[in-house]
Amino acid sequence: MSDLITTVVQSLGPGAMLAMFALGLVLIYRSTGVINLAHGAQASLGALLYWDAVVNWGIPSIVALAVAVLGSGLVGALIHVAVMHPLRDAAKLTQLIGSIGVMIVVQSALLLTYGSTTRTVPALLPSGTVGLPGGATVGADRLWLLLIGIGVTTALWATYRYTSFGVRTAAVAENAVSAAALGVSSTRVASANWFLGGCLAGLAGAMLAPVAGANIVTLNALLVPGLGAALFGGLLSFPLTLIGALVVQVVQAIASENIDVRGIAGIASFAIIVVLMLVRGSAIPERGFVGMRLPSLGSGRIGWWAVLWVGVSVAFVVNGDPEWVDAVLTSMIIAIVMLSAVVITGYAGQLSLAQFSLAGCGAYIAVQLSQRFDVPFPVLLLASAALTIPIGLLLSIAAMRMRGASLAVITVSFAVALYAAVFSQSQIQSVPSPSLAGWDLSPIIYPERYLALATAVFVIAAVLAANLRRGATGRRFVAVRGNERASAALGIRVGLVKATAFSIATFIAALGGVLYVFRSPSVEFGGFTFESSVEVLAWTVIGGLGFIAGPLLGMGFAPGGIGTQLVETIIGGQSSWLPLIGGIALLATVVLNQDGIASVLLDAARPVRRRLRRGPSSTPGHEMPSQPAQEPSASAAHSLEPETVTASKPSAKPARHCLPLEVRGVSVSFGGVHALTDVDLALEPGTVHGLIGPNGAGKSTLLDVISGFVSPRTGRITLGDQGLGPLKPWQRARIGIGRSFQSVELIPDLDVEDNIRVATESSAGPTLLRDLVLPSRRDLPPAAREIVRMLDLEGDLHRRVGELSFGRQRLAAIARALATDSQVILLDEPASGLDDTERRELTRAIRLVAHGRGIGVLLIEHDVDLVLGTSDVVTALDFGKVIASGSPEEVRASPEVIASYIGRGADDPNVQGEGAVAK
Ligand code: ADP
Ligand code: MG
Repeated sequence: MSDLITTVVQSLGPGAMLAMFALGLVLIYRSTGVINLAHGAQASLGALLYWDAVVNWGIPSIVALAVAVLGSGLVGALIHVAVMHPLRDAAKLTQLIGSIGVMIVVQSALLLTYGSTTRTVPALLPSGTVGLPGGATVGADRLWLLLIGIGVTTALWATYRYTSFGVRTAAVAENAVSAAALGVSSTRVASANWFLGGCLAGLAGAMLAPVAGANIVTLNALLVPGLGAALFGGLLSFPLTLIGALVVQVVQAIASENIDVRGIAGIASFAIIVVLMLVRGSAIPERGFVGMRLPSLGSGRIGWWAVLWVGVSVAFVVNGDPEWVDAVLTSMIIAIVMLSAVVITGYAGQLSLAQFSLAGCGAYIAVQLSQRFDVPFPVLLLASAALTIPIGLLLSIAAMRMRGASLAVITVSFAVALYAAVFSQSQIQSVPSPSLAGWDLSPIIYPERYLALATAVFVIAAVLAANLRRGATGRRFVAVRGNERASAALGIRVGLVKATAFSIATFIAALGGVLYVFRSPSVEFGGFTFESSVEVLAWTVIGGLGFIAGPLLGMGFAPGGIGTQLVETIIGGQSSWLPLIGGIALLATVVLNQDGIASVLLDAARPVRRRLRRGPSSTPGHEMPSQPAQEPSASAAHSLEPETVTASKPSAKPARHCLPLEVRGVSVSFGGVHALTDVDLALEPGTVHGLIGPNGAGKSTLLDVISGFVSPRTGRITLGDQGLGPLKPWQRARIGIGRSFQSVELIPDLDVEDNIRVATESSAGPTLLRDLVLPSRRDLPPAAREIVRMLDLEGDLHRRVGELSFGRQRLAAIARALATDSQVILLDEPASGLDDTERRELTRAIRLVAHGRGIGVLLIEHDVDLVLGTSDVVTALDFGKVIASGSPEEVRASPEVIASYIGRGADDPNVQGEGAVAK
C-alpha cells in the first residue's frame, strides 16, 4: 500500500511538468488551431540549453532556467512568424506537416549540436526527502515540481480569464476577422501565444532534465503523453489539462511498476488517448473549413519513358560502384514506404504518421514467418504484407471516427506505443538469406540482385497505385479527401473508402518494411521509431505527396541513401547534416509550394510536352466544345418562358416512374433552437417544388434531414413505401436521393467530368481489384451527358474545378446532383452566384429534369421570383414552421408569406432574413 502511495506521490512532480508541456500545446491550439508536433523537440531544446548553461557556461541555475525557458519561447515565436503565419490559411494537413518540419529541424539541429547521449543535469530544486504518512518517503524536488505546476496553471488560468491579453486571444480564436475589426492584431496575439507555448515546453524540459536526464529522444516522446493530457482538457481547459497530466503520469508509473510488459508506459498513454478520443467523439474540434487547398494530385498516368528511365538508371548503377548500389538500394526501399504515404495521405487525405511503423509491422511478421516456414522470398514478402493489413485496418477504424489533427495524434501515439512495446524490445534475430527459385538474392553477396528486386517491387507498386488513382476507387479516395459530407451525399461509403485506402497503403508499406530488414542476415527493429515515420512523410511531401514520382524525387533524403552518398562523394563527409537539410527543405516546400518537386517539374515540362504533342496533323485547341452539341442548347436558351419549356416536354426523355417523397411531422432542434417544428411536405414525381423562407428559416436543415445528415427529433420521411429512418446518407443517395449543397462542394482535384463520374459510379460495386490492374474510365451515362448538354458544360468537362468561374462551378455541382439516377433531387440555393444567362440555363434544366424525366425536384432559392416562376408547388417556411403551401400564386398571395417578407418587395432577393444569421 505504501508502495503504491510512494509511486503515486513520486509521479505527481513529473506529472506537473508534463502538465506544463501539455498546457503549451493547449495554448497554441486555443489561439491558432494548430497541434504543435514540434513541442517535444522544443522541450528537448529547453533541457539541453539548461544543461549547457549550467555545466558549460557555469551560470547560476536560476538564470540558466530563464535562458532555457526564453530560448524555447523564442523558437516558438520564430515558428509562428516563419512557418505558421504564412500557413495560416492553408489546409490543416499542410499546417500539421509544417509543424513536422519544425520538429525535424529543431531535433536534428539539437542532435548535431549536442549528440544523442543522455546528459546528467545538476539538481535545480532542493534535494532531500520528505516523510509521508505510513512511513514512505518522497523526494522534496518532486513536491516542488508539483507546487510549481499548480502555480503556473493557476497563473495561466487567471491570465486567460481576466486580462485583456486573454480576452484578445479568445477574440482572435473565435473570429480573426472581426477581432481585426476591433483593432486586435491576430498576428501579434498568435505570436505571443506561440512564444508562451514555447516557454512552457522549455520549462517542462528544463525542470524534468535533473530528474530524468536530458535526452533528445526521451523528451521528444513527451509529445504523446502530453497530447493525452491536452486531450483530457479538451485542448481548452487549463485545470483539466493539469489533472489529465497527473492522471497520465500516475497511470504510466503504476502500469510500469505492476504490469510485467515491457514498454507498458508507452502503451498506457496510447490507451489513454484512444479512450479519450472515443469518449469525446469527434475529439479535436475541427476549425478548418472545407475548400482549403490541399496538396495537388498527379493524374496517375505513368509514361513508359518514366519506367524506362528508372530501369535504365538502376541498371546503370547496378554495374557501378558497390557503394552506390547500396545507397540506391536504401533509397529505393524507403521509396516503397513513401509510396504508401502517397496513397494514404496524398490520394485519400488521411494524415497517417505511422507508415514506417506499419512497415516495421510487416517486417516483424515476415521475420516470425521466416523462422517457422521455409518459403521462397517473394511468397514471404507478399504473405507478410497481406498479414499486416489488419493492423492498418485498426488505424482505419480510428480514421472513421476522426479526421485531420485527431487522426495524426492517434497515429503518432500508435507509432510510439508500437516502438515502446515491440520494436525497442525485440532481440536481434537471424533470418535466412532471400532467394528465388534457387537464385540467390542475398543482399550481402549480390546487392545488385536485391536492388533489382526492390526496384521491381517499387515499379509494380507504383503502377498499381497509379492505376488506382485513375480508376473509380481513386476518384472515391479523392472525393473523400476533398469533402466527406459531399461524398456521402453522392452515395460514397466514406468508411469503406478509408478502410480500402489504409489496407492498400499498409500493404505497400509492409513490402518496403520486409525488404528493409532482410538486407541484413541479423535483423533488428530499433529503427522503426515514430520519428522515422514522420520523416518518411516529410520526404514524400518534398518530392510531391500527390504524385507517383514524389517518392523517387524525395527518396534521396533517406539516411544512407542517395543523398548521403552524394554528399560524401562530392563534399567528402558531413552527411550528418542531411536530416537538418531535409527538415529545412520540408519547411521550404510547405511554405513556398506545398505540392512538392514533382509538381514543379511537371509545370516546367508542360510547355515542352505540349509543343511535342502539337504535331503538324493535330490542331492546337484540343478542348473545343463540340459544335453540334451547342446548337440545340443555344437555341433552347431562347425558350425561357415557362410555357415554352412545358411545350418542349414531349421532346425530352419519356418520364420514368419515380417515387414520391413524403415528409411528415418532422421536428429538429439544435440545443435550444427549434430549427424545424412539425414540418409536412410532399414532393411529387415530375414536379418542381419550391421551398422559400428567410435566412435561418430551416430550409437547409430540412434538406439535411431528408438526406440523412441530421436526425429529426420526431417525424417520418418516406420514399415511396420505404421509411428512410435507419438509412445513412450514402444509403439514401443510393436509393435515389440526390442533393447539392449551399456551398459549392465539388472535388477540387478532379475535372468536371470526373466530378460527375464519381456520382454516377458510386454504387458500381466492388471495383478495387479491377482498378488496380485495369482502371476504368467509363463514359458518362446518357442521362448525365444529357444534363451536361442542357447546362452547356461540355466545354468545361476537362477543366479542373479550380479553373472555372464561381458560376460555372455551381452549374457543375448541380449537374453532378442531377446526373445520378435519382428519384428526387434536393437543390440548396443553386442559383446564387450565377449570372442571368446561367440562371436561365439552370431553371430550364431544372424544369426539364422534373417534367421531362419525371424526377421530383425540391428547390430552395433565395430569389423569390425565380422560385415562383420555376416551381409547380411552393412551400414557405418561417421559424421552422410551414406558413404556406400551394401553387405559386396561392403562396404569393398568402398573408403569412407577405407578413414574413414585410419591409421589402418580394422581388428583392438581397435583403431577406434581416438579423438572422445564415448558417
Ligand atoms: P436556412 O437554410 O433556411 O437559412 P438553416 O436550416 O440553415 O436555415 O438554419 C435553421 C436554424 O437552425 C438557424 O437558426 C440556424 O442557426 C440553426 N442551425 C442550423 N444548423 C445548426 C447546427 N448544426 N447547430 C446549431 N444550430 C444550427
Ligand atoms: Mg440555408
